[in-house]
Amino acid sequence: MIEDPKLPFELDALEPHMSKETLEFHYEKHHLGYVKNLNKVIKRTRFEDSSLEEIVEKAAGGFSQPIFNNAAQIWNHTFFWNCLSAEGGEPSDELKEAIDKQFKSMDGFKKKFKGIATKLFGSGWVWLVQTAGGVLTIEQFHNADSPLKRDVTPLLVLDVWEHAYYIDHRNDRSKHVDAFWNIVNWEFVNGNYGSSKD
Ligand code: FE
Repeated sequence: MIEDPKLPFELDALEPHMSKETLEFHYEKHHLGYVKNLNKVIKRTRFEDSSLEEIVEKAAGGFSQPIFNNAAQIWNHTFFWNCLSAEGGEPSDELKEAIDKQFKSMDGFKKKFKGIATKLFGSGWVWLVQTAGGVLTIEQFHNADSPLKRDVTPLLVLDVWEHAYYIDHRNDRSKHVDAFWNIVNWEFVNGNYGSSKD
């Protein structure tokens, strides 16, 4: 049984960059909807008493595909909420240095991230991850795919499913990306970057 994850801010905390109405749907209907579905589909399976992380790592394919899809969507959304804040600070000097090294500048990074986000076909997630070799890369993950499945450290994510932006921006995903930069929780991202070098 997986408990409902909490939203780490009030529903209206990110306005005007992400509306209360978007979060009412995105968190209350979509995110909590995945929890309801997951608890239904893990009943009387070997995943019934597993942690969310175990389910994401072990479920895949066959009967467990819907289990994976719901569990990974729960985990991805919780990570996404943690990436957002009205007062998220700045990237640390260490992270800035790594971004400059890989993408030339913060603007170069944002431009590349936006290009990858707007080109993602269908539904998915855009992740900034650090590879096992320590390199920062921006990756498209389709549908419910999750970095927990891969040998990478996730630093930052943007949900680019239509449900993430259709209320605020209709079909214009690029505006969703632009708004995102105003509400990135860099303190959380800095912590993820620090943890990846242990
Ligand atoms: Fe979503």
